[in-house]
Amino acid sequence: MDQSPDQKKADIVTRFAPSPTGLLHLGHAYSARLAHNFARQHGGQFLLRMEDIDQTRCKPDFIDQIVEDLHWLGLTWDGEIRLQSEHFDDYRKVLDSLEEEGLLYPCFCSRKEIQEEIARSAHAPHGPEGHLYPGTCRKMSLEERNRRITAGESYALRLDMNLALQSLTAPLTWHDREKGLQTATPEILGDVVLARKDTPASYHLSVVLDDADQSISHVIRGEDLFYATHLHRLLQHILKLPVPEYFHHPLILDHKGKRFSKREESVTLKHLRETGHRPDEIFALCSIPPTPSS
Ligand code: GLU
Repeated sequence: MDQSPDQKKADIVTRFAPSPTGLLHLGHAYSARLAHNFARQHGGQFLLRMEDIDQTRCKPDFIDQIVEDLHWLGLTWDGEIRLQSEHFDDYRKVLDSLEEEGLLYPCFCSRKEIQEEIARSAHAPHGPEGHLYPGTCRKMSLEERNRRITAGESYALRLDMNLALQSLTAPLTWHDREKGLQTATPEILGDVVLARKDTPASYHLSVVLDDADQSISHVIRGEDLFYATHLHRLLQHILKLPVPEYFHHPLILDHKGKRFSKREESVTLKHLRETGHRPDEIFALCSIPPTPSS
C-alpha cells in the first residue's frame, strides 16, 4: 500500500473488527492477518474491536472464542479490546447533532411494510445490493411523526440522503488500494439507517466513528463492504472526521466459489483447531490474494 514519504511508521494503525455473532472462519483469519501483518511490517499498531451493537445476536462466548482463535493464530493486538456496546452514549450524541441539523428522520416501517411498498411501486429505486428504502416515512407530516412518537411506536433513524448531499461543494473521494482513487456516490445506498429500532446506532455510524476515534489509518476489510465505504465517506465529511485509506481485499471463497459462512461449522477456526490443523495450514488455506505491502 502506498504511503506518502513523510508518513511516519508509527502513524500506521489498522484494526480487525469482527461482530461476535458467531465463530470466526477462514475468511476472518485472512482478513485479520492482512491487517495485522500490514501494521507489524510498518512498525504500526493493530487494534481489535468487537462490533457488538446488536445485543440480541452478539454473545460474550463468541468474544472469548474470537480472542482464543486470534491467540492461536499468533496474531497480537495493541491495547485493550474495544467493545462498541460501551460507546452507545457517544453514538447517541452524534445522532442528536445530526438530528439537530435536520439530516435524520424517524422511520416506523417494518421490513414487511418496506417490502410491500416496494412491490406496489413500479419504479422502486434500486442500489448495488438490492432495493433501496422507498422513502415512505420521509414524506410523513410532522404532526403524524409526533403523534406516532408520542404513542410510543418504535422507530429507526434514517439519513435523508438528498439533504446530506446538499452539503457537498465538491465530489468526495478516497484512496482505495485495489481500485485506486474512488469518487464516492453514497446516493446508491439511499436513505440508510443510522440508528436501528432496537439499538441507538447502526453499523455504518459506529464503524465510522470508531475508526476516527481509534485513529485508524488503513481500513483493511473485505470487498463485500466496498459499497458501504461510499456512505462512510459521506459520514466522514458531514461529521468532519479524517479519511483513512482503504483496502477492500478479495473474499476467500470455498471450492464451489461461495463465501464462507459463520453457520458452516467445518470452516470455523474452532473446528479446524480442534480437528488438529495448525495455524500455518490455516494461512496456507487462505493465502490466495496478495498481502498489501508498501
Ligand atoms: N463488523 C464487520 C463484520 O464483521 C466488519 C466491519 C469492518 O471491517 O468495517 O463484517
